Amino acid sequence: MKPTTAQSLARVQSGPETNWQQQYRDSITCLETLCSALHLDPAELPVSTAADRQFPLRVPWNYVRRIQRSDPNDPLLLQVLPHAQEENESEDFRMDAVGDLKSVLAPGLLKKYNGRVLLLATSRCAVHCRFCFRRHFPYSSQNPRRDAWLGALRKIAQDSTIREVILSGGDPLVLDDGELAELVRQLESIPHVMRLRIHTRLPVVIPARINSRLIEWVNRSRLKTVLVVHVNHPREIDSELQEKLTELSHARCHLLNQSVLLRNVNDHPDTLAKLSEKLFDSGVLPYYLHLPDKVQNTMHFEVREDQARKIMDELSARLPGYLVPRLVKEQPGHPCKTPLGLR
Ligand SMILES: *Cc1c(COP(=O)(O)O)cnc(C)c1O
Ligand code: SF4
Repeated sequence: MKPTTAQSLARVQSGPETNWQQQYRDSITCLETLCSALHLDPAELPVSTAADRQFPLRVPWNYVRRIQRSDPNDPLLLQVLPHAQEENESEDFRMDAVGDLKSVLAPGLLKKYNGRVLLLATSRCAVHCRFCFRRHFPYSSQNPRRDAWLGALRKIAQDSTIREVILSGGDPLVLDDGELAELVRQLESIPHVMRLRIHTRLPVVIPARINSRLIEWVNRSRLKTVLVVHVNHPREIDSELQEKLTELSHARCHLLNQSVLLRNVNDHPDTLAKLSEKLFDSGVLPYYLHLPDKVQNTMHFEVREDQARKIMDELSARLPGYLVPRLVKEQPGHPCKTPLGLR
């Protein structure tokens, strides 16, 4: 049975929960519930029910706890709220902005770059990020399910140039640890695969996802493992997340972060500097800062390239080089993410 708002609120105020699956199931999917938890009046918010239908609201309570009450412009809220501006359209903003469909090797397996493949392990996510470039991806035809892994695993085994397998989605950590351990075991049986990378935002919204079972299969693997978390704003890192990331950083696992540069969320050098420092305090190094892809319905997050370079100039002048993420954008047909130099 779904908990009532009052029960969920009681739970959210009572501190960190331990069972991530329960938290995943209990996520908020209703705009009114979100608004009442945040003391906001839905009638006064710039929300769009059309946007909510196209890509439904979904956010775990744990993340909602980090959103400032009564602030319609909270940078964490803006990442999850179906916004009226999502209805803005422009010919420049397309459904398959990054040209993914041209790189499909097998259902759920993309190879765009040398030596590494992206395996869409699941189409599910714990949070629906409004800026997501996969909101229009035709997951059902790409079949990122367990039965489809067989075809993907066969392809990976046949191509000895593949050194690294990147689990993506959706969010691969939505899968339970038994499934993941089994998938990793199958990847380990392919001799030329040396590295495993996991791209995930799940621990950011439900820190309890980092638990002893996860750490166990990571530690056991012969593959060198890299976990890339997706944190966009320093306020997303609360003490629970910090603790969990630190725990994981002590495992056989390298921790990196990638962010998306988003207007009104993190498009300021102060915000990004604070983010890098908080990440490092938790054992995580910044990796990429992505210019948002030009995806339909996400235009209101766009940061212009010259503006982005200016922010990077200031960030670089403030931080040691290892805390400055690389500003990149994705261009269809390029052999790697395109780095954008300083001005
Ligand atoms: C971004 C991406 C990668 C990883 O690129 P790195 O530069 O190694 O982080 C791999 N495959 C695809 C399809 C990608 O979009
Ligand atoms: S978790 Fe990642 S894939 Fe899922 S909606 Fe957010 S940005 Fe998109």
